[in-house]
Amino acid sequence: MVGDAISLKGALEAVARLSQIKKELSDADFKQSIVELRGLLLDAQENILELREENLSLKQEVEKLAKIQTAETPTVEIEGFLYDLVNGQPSGLPYCPTCLVKEDGKRYRLGKLNKEFSECNNCKVTHNASSGGRVNFESSSYR
Ligand SMILES: [Zn+2]
Repeated sequence: MVGDAISLKGALEAVARLSQIKKELSDADFKQSIVELRGLLLDAQENILELREENLSLKQEVEKLAKIQTAETPTVEIEGFLYDLVNGQPSGLPYCPTCLVKEDGKRYRLGKLNKEFSECNNCKVTHNASSGGRVNFESSSYR
């Protein structure tokens, strides 16, 4: 990681240096500087490719772990909303029922809007469900 930053920084510094001293250099020196600069850029490019690969494999690892975790969490369904089950009670906000169906069981936890409603950050659907298993409030009867 540090090496990547250094080689990219080196390349950028070389560009700045080149434009500053271009006039003072002989043709041979200038060509040599270009060769060095190309080398630095190639190194930087290679490092970026390696980082992309590493990033991709880390993302896959995270996705795999997230699947394992959700598979192991016990859940309870309350009027169509799936909640994590903690000490025998529905806990936190439920998972988006729309995405559960649309994305073949993939769980997206809803985000709280207020004490009655929550919204899915993935599909943006608002649901009449809140934390701890409170679902299908009739707004009018609670005001
Ligand atoms: Zn959703």
